Amino acid sequence: MVRPSSLTRRELIALAGVGAGALIIGEGVLASEAINQPASPTHSGSSEPSAPKEAIAQEAPSPGTPEKLREDAPASPEEATEPAAKAAMSLEDLPWNLRLVNKDHPLDENFPLPDLEEITDGYAVDARIRDDLAAFLKAARKAGYDPIVCSAFRSHDRQRELYRARVRQSKEEGKRGQEAKEDAAFWVAPPYASEHEAGLAVDLVDGDYQKLDEKQETTATQKWLMKHCTKYGFILRYPTDKSAVTGIGYEPWHYRYVGKEAASAIAGSGLCFEEWIAETYGIGLA
Ligand SMILES: [Zn+2]
Repeated sequence: MVRPSSLTRRELIALAGVGAGALIIGEGVLASEAINQPASPTHSGSSEPSAPKEAIAQEAPSPGTPEKLREDAPASPEEATEPAAKAAMSLEDLPWNLRLVNKDHPLDENFPLPDLEEITDGYAVDARIRDDLAAFLKAARKAGYDPIVCSAFRSHDRQRELYRARVRQSKEEGKRGQEAKEDAAFWVAPPYASEHEAGLAVDLVDGDYQKLDEKQETTATQKWLMKHCTKYGFILRYPTDKSAVTGIGYEPWHYRYVGKEAASAIAGSGLCFEEWIAETYGIGLA
């Protein structure tokens, strides 16, 4: 088990597999990284494969650094919902909505905190994707489903906290040193390497099944979300068959905003985000 010391009550509950709605896992974390809760500074994500108990949720923050939402919200670059001109010279030339964030391409320490806007219950996202996300959720509810936001923006500190908790879990499972870190990073991105830190990702689960495990894909709500996400500018970021490329395990709950045009193009291509960027812009991602 994970050492209790640095975990919040909710995380402990999740780890114990007891909590009612809280679970966590991977880049997704449990059902509750809310911003209102005084909790820890930042969120992060993590996800777990199928083991229902590794959770890293968070919520009960640590006394100290509440996450802020709108305060520091420096403006972000201009909006560009569509892939800009092709032939960009580097990843930095891509519009904000196509920013690649992963272990090989982490956010720069100077990357400005996005201008955040709350979407629900203390969860916030980059203000530029808020309306599309709200429309996505509204449409799902109108169709009779029950999507629940269980993770959105996370601070770097929060991401670090989640990652470290996952590393501890890997060690408890018998892995050591670098092996433990790499194992953990497959489920929870290290700080600066999560899209949640850019405010461009959200974890959505079915209200009737809030665990972050593979069964999430079988829920009625998740099936609807997967089918309709591109219409609202989102893509299921970590497909089940692309883990070797994304470096992240299958997460049938982590949605990344890329804009409607790009989402449609990516979905139609059968490629994951990394592959699509490489093919569309000719940018080597090695
Ligand atoms: Zn996520």
